[in-house]
Amino acid sequence: MISMHEPASVRCQAASPDAACRHASAAGCAAAGRHRDGAGRAATLREDISLAVRLALAAADRLESTPRDVRTACLYRIAFGHAPGHKMPGVMRFADPGMLAASLFRRVADTLGGRAVRFRCRPQPGAHPFRNAAVPRMIEGARNRRVIWLYPRYWSRPRHIRAGILIHETLHLCCSMRDHGTALRRPNNAHCYEWLVLGLNGLAAEPSDLCSCHLTPP
Ligand SMILES: [Zn+2]
Repeated sequence: MISMHEPASVRCQAASPDAACRHASAAGCAAAGRHRDGAGRAATLREDISLAVRLALAAADRLESTPRDVRTACLYRIAFGHAPGHKMPGVMRFADPGMLAASLFRRVADTLGGRAVRFRCRPQPGAHPFRNAAVPRMIEGARNRRVIWLYPRYWSRPRHIRAGILIHETLHLCCSMRDHGTALRRPNNAHCYEWLVLGLNGLAAEPSDLCSCHLTPP
């Protein structure tokens, strides 16, 4: 998840770059400013996860409602370039693409809510000063299926933006979602879902999310 706003205002002063910043234990991952200790960050992260789960489930509810309200259909169309009820090959297991998106949001909620994800604070990559988080493909030689890296910039974002970031990164972990530049179509681009989940909850995503969504063909 990349956005184009101010630089990070806090630092992850971990004893080692890979020091844990996990759900309930963020010892060794202290920060300046508002988050002065690891416990503060752990509490913040728990609240972020809780909000992310609520937002994902609410978005799923809206997409699954029949008939869908005009606003839901409009937001979906802005993100993906077609109506949520548009019949498409590749979504045969679902009634339509809107139901597929709903199922992805529910999977994200299950994954985050089930504490299946581990978080680690990492130094801000020098080449990516505006990056908030990442999911490494491999960790210690094994395929990564549960770890999200959080960069210092993450903690400087507003809470609902942080929740959107968690949803975005969890889509990489649990749903084989890609980013623009690697996704062939928007339904495989995590930026599109990040923008949509916030919009369906009446929250503003960062403009870069919709931009990054629209860099991928519908
Ligand atoms: Zn991503």
